[in-house]
Amino acid sequence: MEWYLAKKVGTVLGHEPVGVAVQVGRNVRHVREGELVFAHHHAPCMQCRYCAAGDHVHCPTWRRTKLDPGGMAEFIRVPKENALHDSFAIDDLDPERGIFVEPLGCSLRAFRHLRPERMSLGAIIGCGPMGLLNLLAARALGAQELWAIEPDEDRRAMALALGAQRALTPDQMRALCDQPGFERVDYAIVGPGRPDVILEATRCVRSGGVVVLFAPTPTGERTPLDLGDLYFREVTLTPAYSCGPLETRRAYELLRSGAVQPEQLISHRFPLEEVQCAYDVAKQGRKTIKVVVRFDQEKAP
Ligand SMILES: [Zn+2]
Ligand SMILES: [Zn+2]
Repeated sequence: MEWYLAKKVGTVLGHEPVGVAVQVGRNVRHVREGELVFAHHHAPCMQCRYCAAGDHVHCPTWRRTKLDPGGMAEFIRVPKENALHDSFAIDDLDPERGIFVEPLGCSLRAFRHLRPERMSLGAIIGCGPMGLLNLLAARALGAQELWAIEPDEDRRAMALALGAQRALTPDQMRALCDQPGFERVDYAIVGPGRPDVILEATRCVRSGGVVVLFAPTPTGERTPLDLGDLYFREVTLTPAYSCGPLETRRAYELLRSGAVQPEQLISHRFPLEEVQCAYDVAKQGRKTIKVVVRFDQEKAP
């Protein structure tokens, strides 16, 4: 999201890192030096009422904490809260699977609002890296039938290869929804943070269905929803923002068991020296799915 990144200029990017613990604080007992670790970029206090309710991502501490300076650095300091409340060893994972702990955690948070095993037909709207990861997560969680809605042909093909039963362009989906008697989907997970796409999603879910907003629309931008229509059809709109310690641990379990094997989404790998190139390629979209930046481990002390 360009508008979101623009606010971050001047900071070290990278919020999905894994790395080796080179030095461990004295109160940290669950990670040992030399182990491959996951460290969440935000971490909650575990004591406030947000945390008690499972809303860790709304804990004031969660918002305040950050990795220092960020994932795209040779060395990262992990603050106390992050180290104690949302970091753990992932020594039994290949690093290329390990980098998916955080993004898969975000997928799992989206599914907290859904019961894919009870709903027979879901739509994944937008098949970029997160959409395709949502697809893999849905399958691991017992989703029955999944449709991928995506304008790009290559990405539709990829969605089919990853287990979607149908892949449609947005136009094809719209045409289907206009047909009388068309059985709409039970739920839709909307990747793009765009008002027009969100509106389309509300039209393609059935009465009693759920639309999960996986990404924000730009700050201040309005989405013209017909709330009366959503009321009578009892369509639920639910945002799924980031993830907390409950989801990262569950993500780790799914990755460790092999229920989700998202490293197949990695389309490009770059050394740290070419990090700019990595971001440029990631922005291209289309055949680019997940881009990984690899660090030279020889440089560790
Ligand atoms: Zn808290
Ligand atoms: Zn992420």
